[in-house]
Amino acid sequence: MPGKVVEKKTPKQTLLTAITGNVGAILVGLKYFVNPNRFTLKYPYEFIELDETYRGFIILELKKCIGCMSCARICPAAAMKMVKIQVEGKKRPMPVPVINYNRCIFCGYCVDVCPTEALAHLPVHDVVYTNMEDMVLDVDGFQKLVDTPAKDEGVPVKYVFDPERGLVKVPATRG
Ligand code: SF4
Ligand code: SF4
Repeated sequence: MPGKVVEKKTPKQTLLTAITGNVGAILVGLKYFVNPNRFTLKYPYEFIELDETYRGFIILELKKCIGCMSCARICPAAAMKMVKIQVEGKKRPMPVPVINYNRCIFCGYCVDVCPTEALAHLPVHDVVYTNMEDMVLDVDGFQKLVDTPAKDEGVPVKYVFDPERGLVKVPATRG
């Protein structure tokens, strides 16, 4: 079957295509310049209310952990390591996971593989650390809820699709 013949553009047509493309881009920029509130997230005065199923930071529920090490084994970034601790009610120290957020890529494999649901994602992605050491959590730190700093003073928003206006930012109710 003969291939489709592609018509070569003349230099004038190429120039015209380039000009219309750039004018289009400028018009889009102008639209958002005139009405920036429509889209821009004013973080931390506003923050995106994430869905409960969002794969954000991870929390350990120690009492559910059976020390199987599957989470540390599957971690592709070597972000999860096992440490041995004495857990209440156990005769001997047992291995439990700790996490290094300098390395974590939030793939969620550790949560998915855990046979007892001892690991779970939190709907939080914007945690502030002031140094890299703090991003390496011990067993206690791994069991604490983390929160976005914007939640203290910001208002929750979400993005929805409007058929006429495109993606727009609207207020969200706190969950
Ligand atoms: S989310 Fe992925 S990278 Fe992060 S600790 Fe779990 S398995 Fe490792
Ligand atoms: S996969 Fe779950 S049960 Fe196994 S060590 Fe990790 S957290 Fe504990």
